[in-house]
Order: sequence, then structure tokens, then C-alpha cells
Amino acid sequence: MKLTSEQSQKVLDYIIQKTENKPIVCPICRKEQWTLNDILTETREFNDDKIPMGPELQVMPFVSIICNNCGHTLLINAIRAGIIDPQPKKNEDGLQSQTDSREDSNQKKD
Ligand SMILES: [Zn+2]
Repeated sequence: MKLTSEQSQKVLDYIIQKTENKPIVCPICRKEQWTLNDILTETREFNDDKIPMGPELQVMPFVSIICNNCGHTLLINAIRAGIIDPQPKKNEDGLQSQTDSREDSNQKKD
């Protein structure tokens, strides 16, 4: 899924807030230039030899920022960043995809 410009801005605002607007130093090459990937990605639970389907499918959505120098990639939970609704939703096949609803993404701390 491609991020809208509004979602991209929300992610950037989130990163600036969490880093207190300090540069993010790449742990590999020590450079500080990053690019926000505008494609939302996800990981799913590894389950040995079977691919989980239906309500038991555990999926975690991520936004990623990529080091301009070496390509090292940082993943930020899209629910925490506030751009994905933590509620599970049904897809067109009627299957549920489960996102991480254990965390309240609407927490306004700090
Ligand atoms: Zn780097």
C-alpha cells in the first residue's frame, strides 16, 4: 500500500517528535541522511511450514526509512506511528487480518 502525502507527513511528524528533532545516525555507516519509503510494508508471524490464514493471521505493518548512503533500513510500527487503525478488518475474501491491537496507538504521552 502506498502512503498518501498526508500519511507520509504524519510519519515524518512522528519521527521528528520521537527523535526530538535530532538527527538519526545510521548504525552502519554513521551518516544522517534518510529517505522515507512511501510504500507501507508488513511482516507476518513465522509459523514453521504452514502459512497461517484467516483470523489467526498475525500481521504487523511498518513504515520504513532508508539510509541514503548504505541502504540500512529502519522499520517503524505503522500503528504506533498513528497511520494504521489497530482494529482488525475484513478483506474481500472475508478473511480477517490481525494487526497489533495490544498497543494503544492513540496514546498521547511525552
Ligand atoms: Zn547507512
